[in-house]
Amino acid sequence: MAIREILTVPNPVLKEISQPVEQVDDALRALMDDMLETMYEADGIGLAAIQVGVPKRVIVMDLSGPEEKAEPKFFVNPVLSDPSEDKRPYDEGCLSVPGYYETIERPEKIKLTYLDYDGNEVEEIAEGMFATCIQHEMDHLEGVLFIDYLSRLKRQRAVQKVKKFEKEKGRDAA
Ligand code: ZN
Repeated sequence: MAIREILTVPNPVLKEISQPVEQVDDALRALMDDMLETMYEADGIGLAAIQVGVPKRVIVMDLSGPEEKAEPKFFVNPVLSDPSEDKRPYDEGCLSVPGYYETIERPEKIKLTYLDYDGNEVEEIAEGMFATCIQHEMDHLEGVLFIDYLSRLKRQRAVQKVKKFEKEKGRDAA
């Protein structure tokens, strides 16, 4: 396993639309292992392949958090359907928009089908935090970031904040 570089805004690769995976094989599992390790290392709970520059429909997630690492989940070619009318607000963040958080409302409950780590078809209902997170990650596959739901002014402010955050991080590391 290896830690990969996470792309941040305004990197144009993040706007690319990810392509379906043809086969869940060892090469794909190696990518998913790298993604999981990269996500834990960055203190995240979800990561889409495009965030490490790979335009494939692959998502990793662990809602137990980077400390516990108890519930790693892998989603290949995920499809969402039947969103609930009830919405859930959540203060979202994103590893590609580090240091910025904003409340986004998404359906509270949604149906989800995907292939798992072994290529098995899975169908389940995502609710609460799981629903919020999978919808956020699914957006990445379409080149959409949570800041795209904000006003243009707020979005520009977010990108500025990320640039400043990255500069300060670079200085700390130096
Ligand atoms: Zn994100």
